Formats: sequence, structure tokens, C-alpha cells
Amino acid sequence: MAQSLKVAVIGAGVSGLAVARELQREGHRVVVYETQNRLGGTWMYDPRVDTDPLGLDPNREIVHSSIYFSLRTNSPRHLTGFSDYLFTSKQYGDSRNFPGHEEVLKFLDDFAKDFGLVELIRFNTEVVRVERVDSRNDEWVVESRTSGLSTEDIFEAVMVCSGHYTVPRLANLSGIEKWPGKQVHSHNYRVPEPFQDQIVVVIGNGPSGYEISLEIATVAKEVHISSRSPNVKCSKLDNHENMWQHSEINNIYENGTVCFQDGAAICADIIMHCTGYNYDFPFLQTNGIVTVEDNRVGPLYKHVFPPQLAPRLCFVGLPSRAIRRNQNVLAHTIASLARRRRLPPSWLNAVPVCKRTVIKSEERDWVG
Ligand SMILES: Cc1cc2nc3c(=O)[nH]c(=O)nc-3n(C[C@H](O)[C@H](O)[C@H](O)COP(=O)(O)OP(=O)(O)OC[C@H]3O[C@@H](n4cnc5c(N)ncnc54)[C@H](O)[C@@H]3O)c2cc1C
Repeated sequence: MAQSLKVAVIGAGVSGLAVARELQREGHRVVVYETQNRLGGTWMYDPRVDTDPLGLDPNREIVHSSIYFSLRTNSPRHLTGFSDYLFTSKQYGDSRNFPGHEEVLKFLDDFAKDFGLVELIRFNTEVVRVERVDSRNDEWVVESRTSGLSTEDIFEAVMVCSGHYTVPRLANLSGIEKWPGKQVHSHNYRVPEPFQDQIVVVIGNGPSGYEISLEIATVAKEVHISSRSPNVKCSKLDNHENMWQHSEINNIYENGTVCFQDGAAICADIIMHCTGYNYDFPFLQTNGIVTVEDNRVGPLYKHVFPPQLAPRLCFVGLPSRAIRRNQNVLAHTIASLARRRRLPPSWLNAVPVCKRTVIKSEERDWVG
């Protein structure tokens, strides 16, 4: 009989659910750890925001999800499900091709129920330490906390599915320390009302930056989008009375002025940072085998497998452009490799190129 491993999955979002299902299908014994009181990860909209709007205070209270109230997917319905569990086969009363976040959450609930995954999840349980026992790849200690109580469990493999859209990344802005206005990162944006009649500078024109700008412009006095795309010149956006685009910011001044490289100067009330996120795995202790440097996770083969530790340690869901439709295919590959102690030799031969396959922050532009 095939060996059944005890596997820890950290996170009950899209990635954790897909991996848990495939591991269970392969006959492994799975425990899914989830900090929150329900599954869904990013897709669980939370009206609360972090206690620090820029995410700089290490002791801030953190809200995991970064989605805002009006958010609809920017992946169409037929690409938003799993390849063998389709979003298009579900009816949730909204026929729009780009569904709202509530519907994605219902879809994930159904997925988890249909494959018996809910019973595998330890809710309200945060993983605080993952470490190899005696440097063995097939023995891992997972320390977790539930209501202040600490527990240690031993596993033969650990799947990191903890997400990477929670810790704000900020642009370096000359003069920002003395700027008197308000600042917020898009992680802490929920609704446009607080921007009523304000002059807002939005930094970043990725999907979130652009969408949030459009929404804020419905109530704000002016919205100025600063972009680092080349050759952007100060110009008013067509069909928008109160929106402008600009190049990067040059300097910010104590009197409230924001100066752009294109020569424009705006006296702004609020700066909204739509500048992306930092990878962060505070629980992971690998003695430097896997590191996050300059917002790059590595070394990872195919953005998933750390050559020295895989397949007993895998990272799922790191690339931002990974379409969820194929998440179950990746999860299936991981589950079918799990019994091995090492990656297949042909994969290990690819180790020298791993340095090039780490995820670069610039490649991540689902959200900004
Ligand atoms: C604003 C925004 C819009 C997006 N739009 C789209 C879109 O339109 N289409 C699309 O395909 N993707 C979109 N994405 C990407 C989206 O994040 C992924 O689709 C997907 O939800 C990622 O799933 P995940 O499971 O990897 O991570 P998450 O959904 O972040 O789940 C991670 C889970 O791990 C848990 N966790 C974290 N740390 C711990 C710990 N230490 N212990 C226990 N549990 C832990 C968290 O509570 C969370 O539940 C968007 C993302 C954002 C932020």
C-alpha cells in the first residue's frame, strides 16, 4: 500500500484548499491551519483595516484580506474556477462575466464542502513556527497558537499556502517624513467615502491603482495617478473631469506639495500607495536555505520547490499571474511528488538556474 504521509497545509485560501484536496485524494493525512475563523483567504472581504494604514508598525493588528467592497475579479468567470471544478457550472444569481468577491467566496465554500475539506481545517489557529527536526527533510515541527494556547505537531511534509497580498510595500519618496497629509496603502482601502472632496495622489497604476483611482474619483475633488511607466506626461484623462496622470514623484514637501518628474506640482490631502506587497513568512525557519531578499523568494524551482527541501516543503500560490484554473493541476503534481524524499533528478539538475526563477517583485502585477 502506498505510504500515507502526515502533511501540514498552512492557509485555507485558494492554494491551501487545492493542495489539501489533492493530498487527500492521494491518501495523505492532511491538517490545514487557518488563522481566521473561515476559509477563503483573500476572498473573505473584511470591512476592518490594519491599525496602521501603511503597515509600518510591527505590532499593528493585521487584517489578512486586501480586497475592497466593490471588487470584482479581473479574471473572467471561465478562468476563475479550477480546471476540473468550474466556476461556470455554478449559479449564484449574478451572470456578469467578472464575478464579485462574494461569489468567489461562495464558490470556494462549495469546493471545500464538496471535497470534504472543511473537516481538515483547524480554524483560528496561527502557525508560528515551521522547522525541520534534526535537519531531516521528512520530519517537520509545526508550532501553532489557538486562543493563546501553543501546540506542537510533527509532520512529514509542509505546504506553505499563506498568501502574499497582506504586507504593504511602499515606494521610497523623498521628503515623505515631513509631509503633513494622510497616507494609506491599498491593502487598507475598502470604500471611497473617506476621500470625499479630497485631493488624492495615487501612486501606482497597476490593476488596483487604476480601479481604486476610478472609484475614489466619484467622490474626491481631484485624483492624480503617478506612474513609473516610461514617457508618461502630465495629462488629464479622457472622459474624466477630475483625473490626471503623471510621471513618478520627484519630491514631497512639508507644505503639502507633491512634485512630479513631469514638472507638475499638486497640493494634496492624501497619498494612496498602490505599490504592491512584500513576501513574508514569519513562521518559517530554514537556516537560510530559503530566503526573501529584495522581495524575491528563493531559490525556488518553478516558483514552488526549494531544491534542497522539496517536495517535503513547497510554496503554493507565489506567482501573481498564476491563473487559478490551473491551481489544481499544480496541486496534483505536488501531491503526487510528496512521497519522494527528493525532487526527480532531472529537476535537481535545474538547480543552477533556480536563481533566475525566483519571483521578482516587478513580475507581480495582479494588484498594486
Ligand atoms: C485586490 C486583489 C484582487 C485580486 N484579484 C484577482 C482576480 O481577479 N483573479 C485572480 O485569479 N486572483 C486575484 N487576486 C489574487 C488572489 O490573491 C488569488 O487569486 C488567491 O486568492 C490567492 O490564494 P492563496 O490561497 O494563495 O492566498 P490567500 O487567499 O491569501 O490565503 C492565504 C491563507 O493563509 C492564511 N494564513 C496566512 N498565514 C498563516 C499562518 N501563519 N497560519 C495559519 N494560516 C495562515 C490566511 O489567513 C489566508 O486564509 C487578487 C488579489 C488581490 C489582493
